[in-house]
Amino acid sequence: MPPVPMMETSENLLCLDRSALESYFVSMGEKPFRARQLLQWIYQRDVLSFSGMTDLSKPLRTRLDSEACLILPEIVSQRTSTDGTVKWLIRLRDGNCIETVYIPEPDRGTLCISSQVGCSLNCTFCATARQGYNRNLDAGEIISQVLLASRALKNDERLRALRPDRALERPVTNVVLMGMGEPLLNLDNVVAAMRLMMDDLSFGLSWRRVTLSTAGHVPGIDALAKLCRVALAVSLHAPNDELRTRLVPLNRKYPIRMLLDSCRRYSNAGNRIRVTFEYVMLEDVNDDIGHARELAGLLQDIACKVNLIPFNPYPGILYKRSGPDRIARFSEELRRKDVFVVTRRTRGEDIEAACGQLAGDFSDRTRRSLRMSRPQSELS
Ligand code: SAH
Repeated sequence: MPPVPMMETSENLLCLDRSALESYFVSMGEKPFRARQLLQWIYQRDVLSFSGMTDLSKPLRTRLDSEACLILPEIVSQRTSTDGTVKWLIRLRDGNCIETVYIPEPDRGTLCISSQVGCSLNCTFCATARQGYNRNLDAGEIISQVLLASRALKNDERLRALRPDRALERPVTNVVLMGMGEPLLNLDNVVAAMRLMMDDLSFGLSWRRVTLSTAGHVPGIDALAKLCRVALAVSLHAPNDELRTRLVPLNRKYPIRMLLDSCRRYSNAGNRIRVTFEYVMLEDVNDDIGHARELAGLLQDIACKVNLIPFNPYPGILYKRSGPDRIARFSEELRRKDVFVVTRRTRGEDIEAACGQLAGDFSDRTRRSLRMSRPQSELS
């Protein structure tokens, strides 16, 4: 057998949340509290070499050096929008690239992160879908996006000057899994990374400030409710199955009634937070008053808020963004029917960082037939 390079056999400890790290240390014959020390070095002191972790014993550091690693992907480019939004292109170890976006506001800094290289779901209006699907990100690649962005925002003077949120002690106050990919089709890795984001020894975010957005994978929503408490956003985009199946093909498998039932279950599972329904505004497709009324009818008995997203066009796409008047009328109609609604302000458009414009860059795309069969089988 050819020799296996050491990097491949050593464990990337960025993939492990606190309990997994504790088990790792125990399996080495070490005390579980080593996990706490390691997390603080990595996420609070930004030390990623074992040799610099001075409160670990010398023999342990040497052993970690030979058996484990801390592998961060690499930022290959950074673009800054006139509105302060920042987009990073991040290269993974296998050469695939993903995108991560930072959206600053005076009272918060939201990081939009990716969960997969590409996406398998084929929503007809989304730029990521056009790229096809390549693979799931591992937990280390997911949490690394938060680590790399926080680092860049703290250390880059030019970025600091641009931020309207300079007063914030930590630049990243909120994380949304709304970048490339369908997070519920990569549930285990996403949950490990979200647990790290919420761990007091790393980023310490409150669960209300971590939002997972899904195209509506019903078994995934139920599985998430059992594993981890975070805010849930669901990409609804249409008030009836006929239209929704055209926009989000996953609807064929999990139609609206099933989806809304799983959202009710999620809200009732002790989460006590309104589910957000995202609704992309597509001119003459899903944006007339009739659609608004139908939507209000659907949502009458569910604790939720609707987030209207003006469509972000990109080259080659035939859909158009609904005009501001139409969006205002749609929103007014929902409000009249007592649905809580906000319209998302489009950010970072000049750097293709707005919703649905993230495409990354990767090779070796899975064939369509494979892609279509993958999502169901990947969810455990
Ligand atoms: N797969 C997940 C998360 C990624 S997409 C999901 O579907 O929710 C994040 C949000 O951006 C989704 O609501 C998605 O429907 C929306 N979106 C995708 N393309 C868009 C575009 N071109 N303009 C505006 N919103 C878009």
